[in-house]
Amino acid sequence: MTSPKNSSSSRSVRRVPLPRFFQKRFRHVILHITERCNLQCKSCFVRKSTQELSLEDARLLAGKLGRPRWLDIGGGEPFLHPQLPEICSLFPDSDITIPTNGQDPEYIETTVSTIAQKHRKPLTIAVSLDGFEETNDCIRGSGSFARGLESFQRLRALPGITLKVNTVVCNANANSLLDFMAFIRAEEADYHSLLLLRGQPEDRSLALPPLEFLKENSSAILKRLASYHYGSKRNPLLHSLKKRYQRYLWTVSLRTLEEERCFVPCQAPWLHRVVYADGRLSMCELMPASGNLLEESMETLEKEMEKALKNQEAKYGSCFCTHNCNMAENIMTHPPSILSVILGIRP
Ligand code: SF4
Ligand code: SF4
Repeated sequence: MTSPKNSSSSRSVRRVPLPRFFQKRFRHVILHITERCNLQCKSCFVRKSTQELSLEDARLLAGKLGRPRWLDIGGGEPFLHPQLPEICSLFPDSDITIPTNGQDPEYIETTVSTIAQKHRKPLTIAVSLDGFEETNDCIRGSGSFARGLESFQRLRALPGITLKVNTVVCNANANSLLDFMAFIRAEEADYHSLLLLRGQPEDRSLALPPLEFLKENSSAILKRLASYHYGSKRNPLLHSLKKRYQRYLWTVSLRTLEEERCFVPCQAPWLHRVVYADGRLSMCELMPASGNLLEESMETLEKEMEKALKNQEAKYGSCFCTHNCNMAENIMTHPPSILSVILGIRP
């Protein structure tokens, strides 16, 4: 079994940068605004400290990042940053997604409401729940399920947002995954994202379920995923495309693991930007930072990222992973994948 932890493979994949116009049009940024967190999940692979992005630095970074198509706020727990709404307002032209562990239901509800009232582009809130109470609390800590679910239920009543649940799929929740998916469906999420465990988890006994298990359960998983409207209830064409996209994404993820190569070429370092709370910039969360965007220009760091990728490939071979966020723009800018999604063809 292979785990998608920045794995390297001798099977090289040719990465061809998109023309500049498309790079700007489809750029995806993950902006980690704090390294503080109020949980200690066993599956976590991000650095935790007291580091927090100041509003002043966020403004500087926003200027250098331009107008990303998609902005994922990252952490730590983003809602621990007291100026989350102000930081979101620095990106008025981006579709914004904010993940949360949901541990402060009332504050999260109020803050999301504030952001939603101002942000005119799509706003998605992703509440992390990794299974039913016993399973979730074993991975994410005692009481985290009840608080996370309360946050989800409060947010469900808010207008103007897309609400989803993120579940990290691993050996600790695999056996109850289908039942849990049915539970989340009944809770009326707009959709449910399954994230295959990646990175180096805090608890090294956590691992991805065997590929055979994922393959055997694929049709049941896809059936549940297809039952969502993905925030496009009123647009049947968009709804159908989003459902096909989700099926394609899942199938591509399994092919990536099976073939140990990026089935859809990864567009890091041209489309992905990960910026940490201290300004460090990387092409993805699993690659080392190439420099500090608060101190250097984007042009300089882009060259550094390309160099870093070449060195990494020369040393270890092509890397591959199944990170949903990065795969979204890889798929949307890859003509064979676009055609497959439109025509509903499996990879
Ligand atoms: S996975 Fe998220 S919520 Fe859990 S410890 Fe890491 S940063 Fe915090
Ligand atoms: S996102 Fe791209 S560069 Fe980063 S680990 Fe995955 S395949 Fe490699």
